[in-house]
Amino acid sequence: MISIPVYRPHFTGKEREYVLDCLDSGWISSRGEYIARFEDACRSFIGAEHALSVCNGTVALHLALLACGIGPGDEVIVPTLTYIASANAIRYVGATPVFVESMPDTWQVDPADVERKITSRTKAIMAVHLYGCPCDMTRLCDLAQRYHIKLIEDAAEAFGTRWHGRHVGTFGDVSTFSFFGNKTITTGEGGLVVCQDPAMSEHIGLLKSQYASPHRRYWHEDIGYNYRMTNITAAIGLAQVEKADEILAAKRRLARSYEQKLADLPISFHNEPAGATHSYWMVSFLVPSAEDREPLRDHLEKMGIETRPFFYPAHTMPMYADPRRPNSAFPVAIDLGARGLNLPSFPDLTDDEIESVAEAVRSYFEMSR
Ligand SMILES: *Cc1c(COP(=O)(O)O)cnc(C)c1O
Repeated sequence: MISIPVYRPHFTGKEREYVLDCLDSGWISSRGEYIARFEDACRSFIGAEHALSVCNGTVALHLALLACGIGPGDEVIVPTLTYIASANAIRYVGATPVFVESMPDTWQVDPADVERKITSRTKAIMAVHLYGCPCDMTRLCDLAQRYHIKLIEDAAEAFGTRWHGRHVGTFGDVSTFSFFGNKTITTGEGGLVVCQDPAMSEHIGLLKSQYASPHRRYWHEDIGYNYRMTNITAAIGLAQVEKADEILAAKRRLARSYEQKLADLPISFHNEPAGATHSYWMVSFLVPSAEDREPLRDHLEKMGIETRPFFYPAHTMPMYADPRRPNSAFPVAIDLGARGLNLPSFPDLTDDEIESVAEAVRSYFEMSR
């Protein structure tokens, strides 16, 4: 039924060559040359000092929180409008997520609400660059400095996203990326932790690999994890990062194309704020009223077009529900969550497919007039 999915990975050819090289050489586990080559390629693309590959974006967040020394009794400020992994990782270390409101224009975390929620227990702000648009990193860096708290960036959706020319993930003390099958750069499952401090990088390296002593076999100084990426996964990632500019340019083109074709409709696309380079992980828009969102999605699905609704704000999930944070405390995030949808956004989308999606969206609004 679905002929135009929301996402489809863009393979460039080298993936196959590099994966076959792993199979032929027998280096298929988490040792092998592609691990370092992939980490180096990421480090130089992002402009970070240190980059460590891991097996997915969720464990990358877990390591980032551990590396900041966050634990029970600590609070971490996080937007409620995010993918659930951001909040869950805070719980993994025994800390408490403190949810904050979004901004109506950029859909990113509201720095004024972040400041209001800082307490003596706040250890970190977790910024999430939602759908590929950067947060206001100038204001968030300023808050982290003034209050002496850590800044963590969840850049899972933001490979290629920049703030005043600088790649996101380089502003925080530590930052994470995801390479899940529908992310901008994909390895199927995969993730990355980046940081600027060599001691922190060394600590993360130990944590991700059972805290195994580099000097004494089978000696472990602390509790670690097996969060390693495999060589095969890194081989796919290397081929992807080598084509990152091409992938990002294609996504930008399709975002512009949707915006032009649908400019006259009563919908609002995701703004690219001043100073921001949006990477358009997902091309997204808001419908005028929440009552339109599901009927529009059903209409598109009947025409073979898959879409995604926005995330439900995390504070509405059963495990985070708390009468002290009613929906009325997050009117913007609730409204965005109810009115937003993501369009097919994969780099190989053809002009004809974009036209079909645009026509289908248009026909809904013409029908409902
Ligand atoms: C995808 C995503 C993650 C988690 O990544 P996985 O690789 O699926 O574990 C974390 N945070 C955000 C905002 C994401 O979109």
